Amino acid sequence: AATPFDSPTIFDKIISKEIPSTVVYEDDKVLAFRDITPQGPIHILLIPKVRDGLTGLSKAEERHIDILGRLLYTAKLVAKQEGLDEGFRIVINDGPQGCQSVYHIHVHLIGGRQMNWPPG
Ligand code: 5GP
Repeated sequence: AATPFDSPTIFDKIISKEIPSTVVYEDDKVLAFRDITPQGPIHILLIPKVRDGLTGLSKAEERHIDILGRLLYTAKLVAKQEGLDEGFRIVINDGPQGCQSVYHIHVHLIGGRQMNWPPG
């Protein structure tokens, strides 16, 4: 069923390069680019090029298992590429209480500084 969150997002324009972004990794399924409001020296977003209903993790279905795995594995590759050898933080915000603002699933890769736990 359609929800208000099913409309196109700004990430579609980033995928189509209508809106410029700093791409750090790209293959046929995944795009990784620098967040416009970085929360650390390194802050990269990893997204599926085709949303396929995956507005957020809470909407995941069995057909999404491969892309979910790819997003995390690509995060590891990009972390290595960015020299984050001392560690990093992976975040997936979901829904209003999770502070999600763009309804096209994305993995945040944040690093280059000491993180805090628990998060706010
Ligand atoms: P969320 O809050 O949904 O987990 O994360 C959305 C992220 O997208 C935010 O960190 C925000 O800074 C980033 N963002 C929003 N619009 C743009 C944009 O036009 N370009 C880039 N590079 N990042 C964006």
